[in-house]
Amino acid sequence: MQCQECQDDVDELIPVKVGRKTRKLCEDCAERVQEADAVAGEAESNMQKMMEYKGRRT
Ligand SMILES: [Zn+2]
Repeated sequence: MQCQECQDDVDELIPVKVGRKTRKLCEDCAERVQEADAVAGEAESNMQKMMEYKGRRT
């Protein structure tokens, strides 16, 4: 089976949800993508907090 991220042939692919899509990735890529996704989600919620904060002040 082939990883959709690094195109490596691996025994096992792990389904990882990226946004609305599910990608099948090798263990390494799955970990990396999940981490990046978590960071992106955090950044987004921080941004929303900042917007709210600004919204209250003005
Ligand atoms: Zn991979």
